[in-house]
Amino acid sequence: MKAAIPKETAEGETRVAAVPDTVAKLRAGGIEVWVQAGAGQGAHFSDELYRQAGATVTYELGDLYANADIVLRVQPPAEGELGALPPGSVLICMLQAHLHPQLLESLATADITAFAMERLPRISRAQPMDVLSSQASIAGYKAALLGADHLDKILPMQMTAAGTLAPARALILGAGVAGLQAIATARRLGAVVEAFDVRSAVREEVQSLGAKFINVEVEAAEGAGGYAREQSKEQLQRQQDLLTERVAAADIVISTASIPGRSAPTLITTDMVTAMRKGSVIVDVAADTGGNCECSVPGEVITFDDVVIVAIKDLARLVPHHASLTYSRNLSNLVLSLMHEGEFTIDLDDEVVDAICVTHKGELRYGG
Ligand code: NAD
Repeated sequence: MKAAIPKETAEGETRVAAVPDTVAKLRAGGIEVWVQAGAGQGAHFSDELYRQAGATVTYELGDLYANADIVLRVQPPAEGELGALPPGSVLICMLQAHLHPQLLESLATADITAFAMERLPRISRAQPMDVLSSQASIAGYKAALLGADHLDKILPMQMTAAGTLAPARALILGAGVAGLQAIATARRLGAVVEAFDVRSAVREEVQSLGAKFINVEVEAAEGAGGYAREQSKEQLQRQQDLLTERVAAADIVISTASIPGRSAPTLITTDMVTAMRKGSVIVDVAADTGGNCECSVPGEVITFDDVVIVAIKDLARLVPHHASLTYSRNLSNLVLSLMHEGEFTIDLDDEVVDAICVTHKGELRYGG
């Protein structure tokens, strides 16, 4: 078995799909690992560290992919790269299958088996492979830091001879994996934190982190698999109305609300931004799926009516070392769980494999 780890080619991608630690684990599991030179550069893992872990480092894409059985990546490959992947090999990455129907067709045509990690079912057995959680957790942490960094205040209360400074107020919308991490980080920095989620089940988790759960009387929207379900237009409008006052009172709003496979719901309207204190900050973690704030420009940091709106996509990229460590562990856990007697086995009756396998033996297994 040979695994190939290319250098990521997508613009702004700093992470890498295997780190020296996971290279050693894959090798111990009977897998030969080839790494493209410079693959770990963005996350500060040198070629030398990969060699010490037992990988073969190569400059040549041809050598990297020759006879490769498994290709581990963070982002999907560009269409132009597909020709380099050996037919019959397995590509494992965050494919964002619902956004790339044409790429899926090309993968099927090229006889590449593709595993879309974002489709992993959130069952207990799959938790060690859960890339959405590992990356969201880092994104939530970074969101709180970005909020603090762009704010024109300090976060903790300060009592000095020059007088008392009140603590900053942070509001977290959406208390899933990223939101809970944002709450914990903002609390550690000294902010007074309140949070809201349409899933009332998270109330206790929010409170256990020392934040206040806001009582907004909207219909609870618990969906399947622990996710939220989409709300009606009327419910969303009601939520916006009820949250207006809380947004206006916040120095930092971190919004992380999303619905699987849908555009992010609009929670913060232009009027709500205008009502915020000048100098306040919104960090829109949902920028990847359109954003929770009407004024967000996904991918950018802008100032709107003197409110800073940070809508950088894929925030985990800004913490490449740890994001790569956790992502690569998720991938190596998956790969090693599928190794049986030295062979990588694809059992489509397995719930995990069935969910993530979007192309196999020339067939499309996912229709959007
Ligand atoms: P997500 O990224 O899809 O959504 C983030 C949060 O936004 C969710 O908490 C959701 O309820 C909330 N949200 C959606 N619409 C909203 C609205 N209009 N207003 C306010 N909030 C809104 O979700 P996620 O963070 O990836 O995970 C959600 C939950 O899934 C977790 O809290 C957990 O319960 C569950 N989970 C289970 C496992 C597992 O069992 N392996 C792993 C990870 C997560």
